[in-house]
Amino acid sequence: MSTTQPTAGAPAQGATPAARPAAKPAGPRRIHAPRVLPEVMPFWEAAKEGRLLIKRCEDCGETHYYPRDICPHCMSSNTEWLDTKGVGTVYSFSTMGKDEGRYTLAYVTLDEGVTMLTNLVDCDPAALSIGQRVKLVFKPSEGDYPVAMFTPV
Ligand SMILES: [Zn+2]
Repeated sequence: MSTTQPTAGAPAQGATPAARPAAKPAGPRRIHAPRVLPEVMPFWEAAKEGRLLIKRCEDCGETHYYPRDICPHCMSSNTEWLDTKGVGTVYSFSTMGKDEGRYTLAYVTLDEGVTMLTNLVDCDPAALSIGQRVKLVFKPSEGDYPVAMFTPV
């Protein structure tokens, strides 16, 4: 087998990455290719068209995200795709990294009621606030499908 990266676990919070090779610039954020499962192909095909889909249960009426065949609220398999309006509010966020490698992870609650883990982009992280209104923007990934992110309204 060829040499592999050291497989130490995630460093403890606050640990300094002293053992790493000399720092090189972080570079722009890379958006890895999403894992595309066959049962959610409509989700990814819609993403290519700039639409964000979630699921709604025909039996209990609840919405859910990420999309699943079985409703997580009542276990019904009677679920349908629902187009979102692509707007919501920031539930929580945290900015990581520095310089051009900096990015902001966030939970955004869509107006349709689901909360999704996403990124806030095209904005000054210092100006963000919880409860702020945001809108959908798709960003290209390293794979075939773009990834849903949000930016201030
Ligand atoms: Zn249900």
